Amino acid sequence: MSSPTAPISEGSVETLVVGAGVSGLGFRGFWRDVGGPGSVLVVDKAPAPGGWCRSIQQDGFVWDYSGHFFHFRHKDLEQRLVERMESGAVRTIVKRSRVVDVDGCEVSFPYQRSIGELPTPAWKQCLVDLWHAEQGRATTTSARSAPATTTFKEMLYARLGRSISERFLVPYNEKLYAVDLDDLDADCMGRFFPTTTFADVMQALGSGSDDGGYNATFTYPRGGAVEYVNALLQDTAPEELALNEELTAIDLKTKVATTTKRAIHFERLVTSAPLPTTLRACSLAHDTTAFGSNRVLVFNLGFDAKGRDDVHWVYFAAKTLPFYRVGFYDNIFDDNRMSLYVEIGLESMGAVDVDFWKKRVLQGLIDAGIVTHQNLVSWHAIVMDPAYVHINARSLKETARTRAALEEAGVFSIGRYGAWTYCSIEDNLVEARALAQRLAP
Ligand SMILES: Cc1cc2nc3c(=O)[nH]c(=O)nc-3n(C[C@H](O)[C@H](O)[C@H](O)COP(=O)(O)OP(=O)(O)OC[C@H]3O[C@@H](n4cnc5c(N)ncnc54)[C@H](O)[C@@H]3O)c2cc1C
Repeated sequence: MSSPTAPISEGSVETLVVGAGVSGLGFRGFWRDVGGPGSVLVVDKAPAPGGWCRSIQQDGFVWDYSGHFFHFRHKDLEQRLVERMESGAVRTIVKRSRVVDVDGCEVSFPYQRSIGELPTPAWKQCLVDLWHAEQGRATTTSARSAPATTTFKEMLYARLGRSISERFLVPYNEKLYAVDLDDLDADCMGRFFPTTTFADVMQALGSGSDDGGYNATFTYPRGGAVEYVNALLQDTAPEELALNEELTAIDLKTKVATTTKRAIHFERLVTSAPLPTTLRACSLAHDTTAFGSNRVLVFNLGFDAKGRDDVHWVYFAAKTLPFYRVGFYDNIFDDNRMSLYVEIGLESMGAVDVDFWKKRVLQGLIDAGIVTHQNLVSWHAIVMDPAYVHINARSLKETARTRAALEEAGVFSIGRYGAWTYCSIEDNLVEARALAQRLAP
């Protein structure tokens, strides 16, 4: 798929791309599509491409850094990936997710639409509180639109009522984001937050919950999520990719980027490194406190025998369990050995004691009834940092201001962390394509 491009002259390149993740590699491919002129170099500090969308194969298990699953809304983008892969490389699976609330009650995902599956006193209280919440804002706004709240926590209470919030959504999201939910904006999850109204719940009560149509199917490559990255990689010539090379400084006036290996003059620079990293590299003044994020510690765990076979994901609210979500790879691949990923939300600072967390995770899996008789035979851990950025009014303002300032100097900061946002790999491709089209001659 790659075609020869203009050679990269010593120390100079027309388009320098920082980051060989989905955004950087995606941009390189779209740049080719639009006939973007000149030489291209993609540098990444990591020893392998893929960014957070990487996979590990170990002892017969296939794991991602953290389980990556896909539901494409832009079929042309999905097609772009699939046509660069072997036929039959991608599985399409009907999603089965369960949610366990603070009382240990398990219902379908999403919790707020599945309260009819709770024991009677609990669902009655959830329903009454939901109704009161809706009545409380009925005069000012419609039931489905966002209430006039400022923080994520306020939004949960105002939109869904006290019981749904306290039984699941608040403790679950506190575990995930590892932050006070009052520090996040009401709309911090954007379209990823499944909205619910009293009417939706009543309808679900009548028909039985069915995942609410929320990403009801997903796709997953047999070799792990990195297969999508490998598909994108076909648009990057081998000589255009430099791994183990970290960008350390950018001189915006002279348009010279310094890496751990060389100085490179560029015409335009497209970066998917975290925005605060880029701002530091440019010495561009910014409010460092606006860019909060969490880390996610992921344990990939392989066992010698099968566990439950009826789920792909289980979400946990109880603070007695260290993890917020457990994913079952074996139920995606139809394997006969339990293969899990377990996600723990951590604050952004401090050392991570992997052995300490591993013990807690294994005990938690027993407490949650996931590990019964199985023995652990293989494992792998990774700290994703940053993982979920903390979106609030300050972060949005500072992100918009600094990205605009960078653009004026020919530096385009894109991607989940370059744009400091909450998104999927599909969103990364949409953004990378739009940028390539905007910069096209
Ligand atoms: C826990 C978790 C679960 C997720 N699950 C899903 C999912 O199920 N489905 C989905 O679609 N998306 C999911 N995502 C989102 C997805 O991972 C991201 O949208 C996507 O990987 C972001 O790609 P990117 O290229 O923008 O950034 P990254 O993947 O972060 O790539 C940036 C690259 O830049 C490199 N880099 C950084 N700084 C420098 C530097 N100074 N010099 C050189 N190189 C540098 C990094 O090494 C990295 O390779 C998930 C994310 C997380 C955290």
